[in-house]
Amino acid sequence: MIKIDGKNESIKKRKVAVIGYGNQGRPQALNLKDGGIDATVILRKGSPSASLAVKEGLRVLNPEEGMKKCDFFIVLIPDEVQTDFFKEHVYHRIREEQSFVFAHGFSYVFGGLELKKYPVDIGLLSPKGPGKALRERFLSGEGLPGVMAVEKDFTGLLRENLISYAFYVGLLQKGLFETTFREETVCDLFGEQISLCGLTVDVMKRSFSALVRRGYSAEMAYFETVFEMKAIVDLIYKDGLEGMRKAISDTAEFGAYLAVEELTDKKMDRRLDQWLDGIESGDFARRWIEEYGKGKEKLYFERKSEKESLIGRTERAMKEKGYL
Ligand code: NAP
Ligand code: MG
Repeated sequence: MIKIDGKNESIKKRKVAVIGYGNQGRPQALNLKDGGIDATVILRKGSPSASLAVKEGLRVLNPEEGMKKCDFFIVLIPDEVQTDFFKEHVYHRIREEQSFVFAHGFSYVFGGLELKKYPVDIGLLSPKGPGKALRERFLSGEGLPGVMAVEKDFTGLLRENLISYAFYVGLLQKGLFETTFREETVCDLFGEQISLCGLTVDVMKRSFSALVRRGYSAEMAYFETVFEMKAIVDLIYKDGLEGMRKAISDTAEFGAYLAVEELTDKKMDRRLDQWLDGIESGDFARRWIEEYGKGKEKLYFERKSEKESLIGRTERAMKEKGYL
């Protein structure tokens, strides 16, 4: 674990550019600016985000100018567009000793990014939380945990520069955990697909439906199976699983152990292992790239179905009535 260790201002010697001004790009660029780093934001021509970035005090360049003037790039555009972005704007303009830093290893590990053959640095710096939290915890001085990886240290300075950059965006206060591109990518995909956004949410929806099928009201079911989740996650975030167990009633704790024992089995572990195989082999990445090529057909279909389902309609109605 790398913690703050004296003042490391090495990043001030580099011409830093944040590529993208979205979930991660905007908070990182603003944190850098507030920390006194003269960072540029690189946006595609005609970008709808350019005026906001300028209004917020940042210098905006298009990819062609940015590649010429800057030498330390943080790639914060969506994973699925990075490979094409590099083909269109980066490879033919690369200069020796430039540094490219990613917040997720997807395109490098699975997406066909061919950066390794160039005489450049390749690194990873990934905040363990959404951009919004990175900004909030920077402003409160608390910082967010992060992970870093050095894939290719061509300049011999990448490690030092990554740590320095991490300090200025608010990723060093808590400590940086060192990993590899592959470990970060596989664990990140597995975590989001299974526990964060996939199965947990599915169990919330299934338990909502089970109550409604039995005739209980949708509002009541929503409170019990979805809404209260935030309080539980907050307890885990603050004091871990142990703190959460202490804060809930013994009835809740005992019932939870019993339900898990009787509703899950070893088959589930095997299926999780197989799902992990699919991520490690690149099968998931292939399916995601194919889906992107089809205009994200399935993704939009699923999003719409959820929105139109009973749980989606209940949620909207409760929000409109001001219950949530
Ligand atoms: P995002 O919000 O979707 O990125 C939006 C930005 O990317 C916008 O500035 C947009 O440009 C630009 N962009 C989109 N498509 C583009 C294209 N084809 N060519 C050029 N620019 C394009 O992405 P994100 O969620 O911040 O994710 C960025 C990276 O951070 C990813 O590698 C992701 O895995 C990683 N990450 C994200 C989070 C998070 O908080 N979401 C957390 C950890 C790691 P315009 O302004 O011109 O539309
Ligand atoms: Mg993640």
